[in-house]
Amino acid sequence: MKVSQIFFQTLKEVPKEAVIESHRLLYRAGMIQKLASGIYNYLPLALRSIRKLENIIREELNKRGCQEVLMPTVQPSELWMESGRWNYYGPELLRIKDRKGGDFCLGPTHEEVITDMVRKNLRSYKQLPYNLYQFQGKFRDEIRPRFGLMRGREFIMKDGYSFDINEEKAKESYWKMYEAYNAIFSRCGLKFKPVDAATGAIGGDMSHEFQVLADAGEDLILSCNKCGYAANLEKARTKVISGIDGQEMKSLNEVHTPSMKAVEDVAKFMNRPVTDFIKSMIFLVDNEPVLVMVPGDREVNEAKIQAYFKADSVALASDAVIEEVTGAATGFAGPVGLKKKIKTALDNNLTGRINLVAGANRTDHHLENINENRDFTADVKGDFVIVKAGERCPDCDGTLEECRGIEVGQVFYLGTKYSQKMNCSFVDEAGKSTVAVMGCYGIGVGRTVQAAIEQNHDEQGIIWPMALAPYEAVVLPLQMNKDTVVKASFDMYGSLLEAGIEAVIDDRDERAGFKFNDADLIGYPVQIAFGQKSLDNGVAEVKIRKTGEKAEIKLEEVVNFVRNFKEKELNRG
Ligand code: ATP
Ligand code: MG
Repeated sequence: MKVSQIFFQTLKEVPKEAVIESHRLLYRAGMIQKLASGIYNYLPLALRSIRKLENIIREELNKRGCQEVLMPTVQPSELWMESGRWNYYGPELLRIKDRKGGDFCLGPTHEEVITDMVRKNLRSYKQLPYNLYQFQGKFRDEIRPRFGLMRGREFIMKDGYSFDINEEKAKESYWKMYEAYNAIFSRCGLKFKPVDAATGAIGGDMSHEFQVLADAGEDLILSCNKCGYAANLEKARTKVISGIDGQEMKSLNEVHTPSMKAVEDVAKFMNRPVTDFIKSMIFLVDNEPVLVMVPGDREVNEAKIQAYFKADSVALASDAVIEEVTGAATGFAGPVGLKKKIKTALDNNLTGRINLVAGANRTDHHLENINENRDFTADVKGDFVIVKAGERCPDCDGTLEECRGIEVGQVFYLGTKYSQKMNCSFVDEAGKSTVAVMGCYGIGVGRTVQAAIEQNHDEQGIIWPMALAPYEAVVLPLQMNKDTVVKASFDMYGSLLEAGIEAVIDDRDERAGFKFNDADLIGYPVQIAFGQKSLDNGVAEVKIRKTGEKAEIKLEEVVNFVRNFKEKELNRG
């Protein structure tokens, strides 16, 4: 391709909405245009990278027995009613009506449609396993679309779904996809980490996210400095401090704590450490109030509450609900003497602790010397706290460190969450009707391409990993008014193409500096420049974008040099 003919324009000024470098670079390199908030046109350079990623994904999935399908974007509400998600998916689901008044939505994910598709075909255990995937435009009406392709409203996703005869086989499918994702992101040349993850609105009870490590990432990851443990903050665990204090239990005592709501204030007033407090918070879990208790120095992790109760939604209760449940103003809740009987959940760090303090369920009062089992019992116990960097690894004696990541993919073990509700069943070996066990697997295609830029750029521009580069090499004739330079450049361009290198030639009538700047900005992995002087010496100036290394290479050796460099880069990882 001649650069003069590529549909693009490099920009100096970028729209203000672009606040992270990869988003700015997509604009500066002329790869995307914004059509509406979170909705973009992909111009040719961007689309080439996207297609390359798609091909890598395709190869790795097909190799593992997956089959590609394509499902519609527009989905009928009936299927979402069957799964139960129509009512709780919330405003991210863009609902539309057809001319007859029928309810539809733009698919944010395809569990319902694929489960319906498979149940229409599935008869016998002999047909399974199935692992079907597609590349498709998803729509999620994100509350805050931002960062360009990273959090768009319309975006391209690879979504895949597995169907197996039982849990054991379904877990095999899950780990096979986990391994495929490792292979895919390695081939992309990305630095990434698979981490233990919460399942959120998709559901199921085992999940991993694939996180590309970058400071601009929206996710916080905790990983052990000694072993392989790594988890999203939503899911991160630490060693439980077991709390047998060995003290005598004292009798309950109510203390007047006027207007003191925060644990810190009451602790100071009572002259007791915050760790002696039961932080008691009331949440609405699927609209039902639940009292969640964690140590006074810790925060409640809502994602863990959601996961524990397999809930579709979790939110802090309003003051009105709190008053109704506790009989007191907000800030004075506790496990003893609740006005209304509600579910209670106790964090593991509090079991066995003696003589603790909590709100008295009476405005302006706290209770001290609260003891579990004597004064209250918890309906459920589990891990409900947010874990921080510096805490102990749950699996070894290492320490947890934090870093930021961009979630580019996620795999979910779904079990029978959808197949049960939608009756996706088959006749098993014993002749019994059984529901299929499912998994689902997503990759954000645009987000991954942008994450590659976020992780690989400098002040001059993008530094594409070879596998995702829109073009692998650019030929730069530096003097367009010299026929010899132009001819030698076109000859080189032709030879590169013949050798299977994806090359372009910057044939624009521009100064050398301009072309170098654009080449750095667009981020071609290899630049091959021709000027009269180098030609006279029978060499080309070759620059490797990634390292900035420059070398004069004999004309007849350039193609081989580029080919070898390309092979080396592609085989890495
Ligand atoms: P997030 O937590 O970032 O909102 P998610 O966990 O809801 O994402 P999944 O349902 O796991 O997303 O979707 C699979 C993949 O699709 C994600 O790993 C991500 O790479 C991509 N993705 C999700 N939402 C968006 C979006 N708004 N824009 C671009 N890509 C997205
Ligand atoms: Mg996800």
